[in-house]
Amino acid sequence: MKFLLQVDCDTVKIVMKSQIPDPVPGLLQQALVELEAEFASLPAYAPAYDAGDSASAQLLSEVALRLGDNYPYFHPLYAGQMLKPPHPVARAAYALAMKLNPNNHARDGGRASSAMEIEAVREIAAMFGWKEFLGHLTSGGTFANLEALWVAGQQRPGQRIVASSQAHYTHQRISAVLGLHFNSVATDKRGCLDLNALEDELKAGDVGTVVATLGTTAIGAVDPLDQILVLQSRYNFRIHVDAAYGGYFKLIPEALDEPARRAFAVIDRADSIVIDPHKHGLQPYGCGCILFRSPEVGRFYKHDSPYTYFTSSELHLGEISLECSRAGASAVALWATQRLLPLVPGGKFAAGLKAGRAAALELDSRLRKDERFTALATGKPELDIVVWKLRDENSERASMLAQKIFDLAAERNLHLALVKLPRDWFDPSGNDEHITCLRSVLMKPEHLEWIDRICEILTGATDAAFDAKKG
Ligand SMILES: *Cc1c(COP(=O)(O)O)cnc(C)c1O
Repeated sequence: MKFLLQVDCDTVKIVMKSQIPDPVPGLLQQALVELEAEFASLPAYAPAYDAGDSASAQLLSEVALRLGDNYPYFHPLYAGQMLKPPHPVARAAYALAMKLNPNNHARDGGRASSAMEIEAVREIAAMFGWKEFLGHLTSGGTFANLEALWVAGQQRPGQRIVASSQAHYTHQRISAVLGLHFNSVATDKRGCLDLNALEDELKAGDVGTVVATLGTTAIGAVDPLDQILVLQSRYNFRIHVDAAYGGYFKLIPEALDEPARRAFAVIDRADSIVIDPHKHGLQPYGCGCILFRSPEVGRFYKHDSPYTYFTSSELHLGEISLECSRAGASAVALWATQRLLPLVPGGKFAAGLKAGRAAALELDSRLRKDERFTALATGKPELDIVVWKLRDENSERASMLAQKIFDLAAERNLHLALVKLPRDWFDPSGNDEHITCLRSVLMKPEHLEWIDRICEILTGATDAAFDAKKG
């Protein structure tokens, strides 16, 4: 990887080591001494693997060089996919826990970290308004959704799972793994589950669970959960909310528009909720979370115990989760992060989400002023993901231009993403053929401060793409 790249007239230097020193080594060093002291009464021993030699240091240099072959996910000019650097405290806490490498499958393997998981998950549940619930961390959103649909199948044997065509593809695949019938339901032109299409499915009488996505992966669309609840009073079905991406937006209703705000306001009425701390929660990968409103579902995990067992403070996390070994370090990192940045409206964590959302709204409004672009016809982004297409009669040409701008922006250090979306979301008179669009996930608080720079580079890349088209 080249560290020095020419951008317009001046130079931007992206180096792995920023001007501000990385706080993690310092935090870690001090805490490691304290952790060692906790075990001071043990007799000294000689570890079989020692990494204090020059070969190890050399190897780490090689690792650093290999890792240079990455997009700079940590930098505000990375505004492409859903990637957000973990909080330094999360990194330090995770690395600190590595001294013990606890396993949260059972208390024996991770006593402190299991207790920390229970506390951290209780805080997430409280964010959604749940005091009594059953929940735990998972290795990610996929596994968390798998547990949700597994319970759905247990509670409604033989009945169907339905989700919108913009729901994460994992739901269809998981349903196949679990042997559950799955159908996808059309969306409207905002990418939200279409209520008429849903009602058509419900009329068949065999829908057991409706998956509502609060924050779709492609564009951050929010399914109308409040309206789905109205249908629930007429048709008998369960609701699973996939808020793997969008869950934390529950903390900033004042920064959302209707109807998204209304959907988040009733999230507590779902039967289960998935949220990914490793997406918007400042955590390293390996941290998803599944919550069930009724602790009673614990009986599906363990057959010979009364459910009260599962709400006792001594529960073994392995007995209420499908995964066995799980990183206790994930729980430690999450616990520490939530201690520092509590999940409360008006807090510092909420402010970070708001900044990203403001950046997205700003980018969207500037795009709408550039006649070369077309934004979503239905209005502003619902969360912090912006999508736009190139204005061109010909879909193939518009798709190629998007790809060209994506490449030219990357050469200028601005990393965007591409997404295929129905053309008629942008041109209501167009057809529903899919067209390649540009996409930017503005999930870092820093994105707001960098929005001028982001737009400047985007404009430069777009100018260059149009010059190339002419020439
Ligand atoms: C990311 C995502 C998932 C999958 O979660 P992983 O953590 O990547 O396994 C599921 N649903 C939605 C809405 C997501 O955004």
